[in-house]
Amino acid sequence: TKVLLTGGSGFIAAHILEQLHGKGHTIITTVRSEEKAAPIRAAYPERVEVVIVPDIAEPNAFDEVVKSPGIEVVLHTASPFHFNFTDPKTELIDPAVIGTTSILRAIARSAPQVRRVVITSSFAAILDEAHMSDPSTTFNEASWNPVTVDDIHRSPATAYRASKTLAERAAWDFVKSGEAKFDLVTINPPMVFGPVAHHLASLESINTSNARLVDLVRGEWREEVPSTGQALIWIDARDVAAAHVKAGLEIPEAGGKRLFTTAGLFSNAELAAIVRREFPGLGEKVPKEGVKGGELPSEGERFKFDNSETAKVLGIEWIPFDKSVVDTVKSLLEHEK
Ligand code: NDP
Repeated sequence: TKVLLTGGSGFIAAHILEQLHGKGHTIITTVRSEEKAAPIRAAYPERVEVVIVPDIAEPNAFDEVVKSPGIEVVLHTASPFHFNFTDPKTELIDPAVIGTTSILRAIARSAPQVRRVVITSSFAAILDEAHMSDPSTTFNEASWNPVTVDDIHRSPATAYRASKTLAERAAWDFVKSGEAKFDLVTINPPMVFGPVAHHLASLESINTSNARLVDLVRGEWREEVPSTGQALIWIDARDVAAAHVKAGLEIPEAGGKRLFTTAGLFSNAELAAIVRREFPGLGEKVPKEGVKGGELPSEGERFKFDNSETAKVLGIEWIPFDKSVVDTVKSLLEHEK
């Protein structure tokens, strides 16, 4: 099958690319620059074509690439996930929302043979910031973040969550408008950890969700383990990638669904304990037993979640947390060398 994968230089997309290629598919992938294209071309001499799309916030960004003959499935992963922006509107919201609507419109106009589009959304589009500590709230595949564009100056995290929520809403609205012949699936993962499969110039440019593991192995948690944050749930990148591949190419019944891919709760305290146990060679860099911080809030002080519908549709046995942490740290230490 010929698949269009946007953002092929990304952390999650690199795992998708690897799995698609391993299954014998043909891939056309977009990146922002020649510099990002070169390592992908070198890693995949055949069945992968790399195309430069410099700015996904440009309304006609994807008009040409979707015309590549024979694309049957589109996986749209490209969207900013970082907090080093000054203007959330132009740097986060626009690439997320215009990127999504422009690719859907281009497919509807110029690639009528595309049967399915999978969009990498997020738990960010499911959660509700006002209910993260509320044990009477259960997030599931039907939950929607109530955030609006008026909230984007509240915090960088809120701006990111708004970008994912507004982009996903725009996608479902587009499909509802009847302009599309394809059906839509969204993948909504929470915090994604996992080994690095993309080209990484140095650990300084690690993707956002793996950054805490870099901090940990560099000794930044020695005195105190930082707060786990609000999200509390996680998934391995290889499972997120498998969800894209299965939902896009292998499970017709996934059409029209939001897939809430999570392996469950985690905490920074647990993360530190696993690294302490499994990587004794890191010695003093890792917080000693008894160093406080990063504990999971008690059951009475956190949200609940239910992704049984997703588990039923995908049938993936999620990678456990300790394996994910070990594989990720090994991969980071390789890159540190
Ligand atoms: P990365 O930062 O590694 O990947 C982001 C991808 O989007 C990269 O290919 C990046 O290109 C591209 N991109 C970002 N901004 C732009 C822009 N303005 N124009 C063009 N391309 C852009 O992070 P992830 O792999 O984690 O993210 C991939 C997707 O997964 C995103 O949609 C993200 O929102 C989503 N997601 C991630 C989660 C996580 O915890 N990691 C959780 C839930 C969802 P470049 O390589 O050039 O920077």
